[in-house]
Amino acid sequence: MTPAAPPVRSILGQIGNTPMAEVMRIDTGRCRLFVKLENQNPGGSIKDRIGLAMIEAAERDGRLQPGGTIIEATAGNTGLGLALVSAQKGYRLILVVPDKMSREKIQHLEALGAEVRITRSNVVRGHPAYYQDMTARLEREIAGAFWVNQFANPNNPRAHEQGTGPEIWAQMDGALDAVVVGVGSGGTLTGLGRYFKRVAPDVRTVLADPKGSVLADLVKSGRMGTAGAWLVEGIGEDFVPDNCDLALVAEAYTIDDAEAFATARELLLREGIFGGSSTGTLVAAALRYCRAQASPKRVVTLAPDSGNKYISKMYNDYWMIDQGFLARETHGDLRDLIGRPAAEGAVVSVEPGDSLLFAHARMQLYDLGQLPVLEKDRLVGIIDESDLLLAIYRHEDNFKAPVRDFMTQRLEVVGPGDPLDTVISILRADRVAIVVDRDAFLGLVTKTDLLAYLRRKVR
Ligand code: PMP
Repeated sequence: MTPAAPPVRSILGQIGNTPMAEVMRIDTGRCRLFVKLENQNPGGSIKDRIGLAMIEAAERDGRLQPGGTIIEATAGNTGLGLALVSAQKGYRLILVVPDKMSREKIQHLEALGAEVRITRSNVVRGHPAYYQDMTARLEREIAGAFWVNQFANPNNPRAHEQGTGPEIWAQMDGALDAVVVGVGSGGTLTGLGRYFKRVAPDVRTVLADPKGSVLADLVKSGRMGTAGAWLVEGIGEDFVPDNCDLALVAEAYTIDDAEAFATARELLLREGIFGGSSTGTLVAAALRYCRAQASPKRVVTLAPDSGNKYISKMYNDYWMIDQGFLARETHGDLRDLIGRPAAEGAVVSVEPGDSLLFAHARMQLYDLGQLPVLEKDRLVGIIDESDLLLAIYRHEDNFKAPVRDFMTQRLEVVGPGDPLDTVISILRADRVAIVVDRDAFLGLVTKTDLLAYLRRKVR
């Protein structure tokens, strides 16, 4: 064990100098694969580096004055990095964020003190609500405002050329054959590419690109295709950012969402590395590169951010099943419609003696509109939001009353072999279908479950 470092006076001193971990339990062919743990930066991602670098460069060249305002259009990790640095240095930060971003991301940014301006995501350049146009307008309106613009700001790649690159080279003791990176703004690619071209020109820069992005095809064929859609976050583009110098790329791999998510999950299980979805893409491409080598190579890739932001998505089996990335055992009957099967211990339920307050807290926690009421393993009722409303409206004391007094006992029970139409008519009457086999409670089918089932079938 190296001795623990002494205390720091500012969290900003903890940005960079991230650890490097070797992949030990996943097959890397003849190669050794190392992952630089950028998820261990204080803001949780590699973007802390550029947040600090771009702000300090603007301080030096006078574009940012004490107490000034910083503007950027992002809800991603760059926003978090900028927010961390702005709060520590006393700047006002305004982030223009498209309205498709998750609530968690916006709350995280606001908790860091950023002002979030939500704008429409379904408009194109030239519309006043288009996020780039809105950012440009804010810059004009606010005196002395500094628009960061990570896609063209030269201090973005510079942060990697002067920081991340030298750190990798030192950690690898000057023995390195390839680095595998993704492109969001292109800062990492261009910065690392430039550094190694200068210091160790034999190091190959390998691009890991989500399927649907235009970049890997551009490298491979020289042609600009049309962009598709992908679920991996933070990397992949439908254009080539100013900061992205594709001439530095030696080869490119296209990785689809399924492979990226499976790889990220495997990396956590087998190596204990908790990365985000882009980590999955990068490690998947690095593994393909490693396994394709005929002679031993030393390869580095990155975990650009932490898995925390993806717990309800990529690390959630239900989400993975709903998206069609994880298979689930099917029976060819109504059991396939159950969202949370009792047999998997997945049912969220209450007991007849629980209070309405407790039932309400459960519904909120799991985002459910109703709960089965179970006594031992037997279904005795259903309690839903309407039952709660009727019980509590004008009688708030009823929050303390037991579920048994207000639950519905008129149950819509179906057997696994019943026709789908039966379920449809139950749901249309605003009730939920309860699947029971002989006496055993198998689970509920709600509208949400049925929609998810139908979507799984289309995939
Ligand atoms: N991974 C994640 C999770 C990111 O947020 C980003 C930045 N958008 C990247 C990778 C790519 O970094 P860069 O902007 O340097 O290309």
